[in-house]
Amino acid sequence: MTPNEIDGEDRGADDQATCSCGYDRNHHMVSAKGDYTLYGSICLIMGISAHPIKVRYMCRMCHDVIAESTDPKALKDPRLL
Ligand SMILES: [Zn+2]
Repeated sequence: MTPNEIDGEDRGADDQATCSCGYDRNHHMVSAKGDYTLYGSICLIMGISAHPIKVRYMCRMCHDVIAESTDPKALKDPRLL
């Protein structure tokens, strides 16, 4: 086994990461879901837009979380709103 085969699994920020179905984070069956602070959640409930502190890419078929990101660019993903 080569080192590349060993560390292929658990790198959350890897662009090539896929779920059990083989979808990556840009696939249309993969949703971007934001994690909000308590304050952010309250803002959303009141209809005020808030930015998440973390985004999670989850497959809608198998519900695998493919990746998580706190990258400011990822947090502005249009799929979040
Ligand atoms: Zn899947």
